[in-house]
Amino acid sequence: MAMMTLKRLHDLLDANQDKDGLIWQGACHDCQCEVKVTATPKTDGIHINGGSVYEPEADKFIMKCDGCFGNDPALRNYQDCEVYSRVVGYLRPVNQWNDGKFAEFHDRKMFDASIR
Ligand SMILES: [Zn+2]
Repeated sequence: MAMMTLKRLHDLLDANQDKDGLIWQGACHDCQCEVKVTATPKTDGIHINGGSVYEPEADKFIMKCDGCFGNDPALRNYQDCEVYSRVVGYLRPVNQWNDGKFAEFHDRKMFDASIR
């Protein structure tokens, strides 16, 4: 799980003291519905409403609506998958290829080596 730590939440609130709290707005990671998560400091603690926020990498925030968080609190499939393939004789990540080679990659066909 990559839930935001309480210390990180406090640091973000401290860095935004001119505002009433924090707001994350965007699409739910799981169901794509619109989510608006607020974190508001009150005398009895920080009130978090509207969903949950994850920070799997520094300053990369991902939200879930309450319904999706209830179904599965774990954050899954949030990283791009790095695909390596052979290009001009050696293996390189496909997302680093030039446009021409990348287009050619999509024309490639999977070789089926199974025996029937
Ligand atoms: Zn959702």
